[in-house]
Amino acid sequence: MIPPRIRGLILDMDGVIWKGDAPIGDLPAIFGRIRARGLKFVFATNNGTKTPEEYCEKLAALGVKAEARQVVTSALGLAFMLAQKHPPGTKIFMIGEDGIRVALEEKGFVVVGVEDAPQAQAVVMGIDRGINFQKVAEAALLVRAGRPFYTTNTDRTFPTPRGEIPGSGSWLAVVTSATGVEPMVAGKPFPYLMELALERLGTAKEETLVVGDRLETDVAAGQAVGCPTALVLSGVSKREEAEGWNPTLIAESLSALVE
Ligand SMILES: [Mg+2]
Repeated sequence: MIPPRIRGLILDMDGVIWKGDAPIGDLPAIFGRIRARGLKFVFATNNGTKTPEEYCEKLAALGVKAEARQVVTSALGLAFMLAQKHPPGTKIFMIGEDGIRVALEEKGFVVVGVEDAPQAQAVVMGIDRGINFQKVAEAALLVRAGRPFYTTNTDRTFPTPRGEIPGSGSWLAVVTSATGVEPMVAGKPFPYLMELALERLGTAKEETLVVGDRLETDVAAGQAVGCPTALVLSGVSKREEAEGWNPTLIAESLSALVE
């Protein structure tokens, strides 16, 4: 089903590779077929809470071998975007977890906490399971004082085995409501994460297929950067909703796509 001109894949994970901890299909066989066709692949996720190494461990546990370079998260996309806008050494007030912290520190940024928040020159916000009133108050004060405001992603919810819980977008709504300022976004549907994935793959955009289960993030991000797109129906979006979005391909699952 994949056109012969395609040489690389940018794969979303949740809803494409797994649901929670459960694999979608026979992953070793699927990746065996991808490798046999000579396709390069990179995983791209809006979830910035885990590091690429942690994702590789999760993939390996499901029988998929990948290197850390083959995983880009919205936390890496965020650091990639910030590095285009601020010099190393810039102090950044962060609401987020280790995935974001490590990505920012790797680019030479200095991450500060609530005690040193007034010195920060930019504000970064992602999902933070230790979020509290003080953190949100400091973020709002800095944004109101004119510091640039960035986020990993605006996904309102986050999937768990028991259902959807508040995601980055829900927490952002508190700061945007208090400041009237919308953040600049690194993750899908914006192009930064896709640009980083293309850089890692080394393929041209016309020969790279973006595969995902959400029209408004995965398909939109692929289209934003000029790649062909494939919607898989193993996650959130339904076939009926695809009208108007015009993904290049629609498949029941990743397995059906690479058959
Ligand atoms: Mg997904």
